[in-house]
Amino acid sequence: MQNKIKSLNHLFNEELENCRHTKEIERLRVKYLGKKSSIQSLMKELRKCDQAERPHIGKEINILKEHIASALETKSQEIQEEELTLRLEKEKIDVTMPGRRRFFGRIHPLSQILEEVIEILAGMGFSFQASPEIETEYYNYGGLNYSVDHPARDMQDTLYLSENVMLRSHTTAIQQHVMENTLPPIRIIAAGKCYRNETITARSHVFFHQVDGLYIDKKVNFGDLLATMKEFYTKVFKRSVEMRIRPSYFPFVEPGMEIDLKCIICSGKGCALCKQTSWVEVCGAGMVHPRVLKAGGIDPEIYSGYAWGGGIERLLMLRSRIDDIRLFTENDLRFLEQFTA
Ligand SMILES: [Zn+2]
Repeated sequence: MQNKIKSLNHLFNEELENCRHTKEIERLRVKYLGKKSSIQSLMKELRKCDQAERPHIGKEINILKEHIASALETKSQEIQEEELTLRLEKEKIDVTMPGRRRFFGRIHPLSQILEEVIEILAGMGFSFQASPEIETEYYNYGGLNYSVDHPARDMQDTLYLSENVMLRSHTTAIQQHVMENTLPPIRIIAAGKCYRNETITARSHVFFHQVDGLYIDKKVNFGDLLATMKEFYTKVFKRSVEMRIRPSYFPFVEPGMEIDLKCIICSGKGCALCKQTSWVEVCGAGMVHPRVLKAGGIDPEIYSGYAWGGGIERLLMLRSRIDDIRLFTENDLRFLEQFTA
């Protein structure tokens, strides 16, 4: 009997020694102290022992039982502490470590200036009009007083999708859409992508952005157009600008003209950008042609209007001294990152 107690004690100590997890502690508790445990079997055997030996052996069993209970408790605490230390070690944060650099996206420079232009014009009373990039022949040409065999149609190298449908070659295509649906006074702008079948060079591209303005009301005159243009370009370039006009021809205006600004870079002294002429062209403009008003259901005897349109890329190229339009579409981060929103 005493040998059994000794060997049980030995076995328990050995198992406890190898114990590493809280779960194993519980397994040992059941194995050594539970209802069907080795200790319980010893108690049963005790009844068969000699009356004289019983108290002594009983005491030894009790000592073993207490030893097992307290040893399990101590070991359990040790393991819990170890587990906590390990977890803390795992979750430790080194606040002195350098942070990871995060890359933030930026708004494309063309979108930035497009938004800026729309905002400037909104401040001047023009409301933004959403406009389709795919147009029919009528909206892009016919409704704007381009006759069927008009040479200007070829000038713009239109990209046709089918015989009568095309990618718009100018944002001016918005004009008849608006006149069809709105009664004067009309004071709108359209802005966005335009397409022309041109050779891609530093100065021209197959797609580019334009902004077009249209103002129709009673007694709108040439002076209004010039005043509007002067205010607009002053706000775009954030400085006073000197303007000149040159007669030009666009089928949808009469008279038509081109507007130049005194060179932004050299202030008129002459530089590569203005090709030593001191002036840079910024847009085409004019008084809305009576035939265009008529096509839109507006009586040219009562109403008059002005219109203008120009390239967005051109504005940004002048303002930021960019000499190649292709940079806008090459997605070179070294270029794009220079324009912070
Ligand atoms: Zn210049």
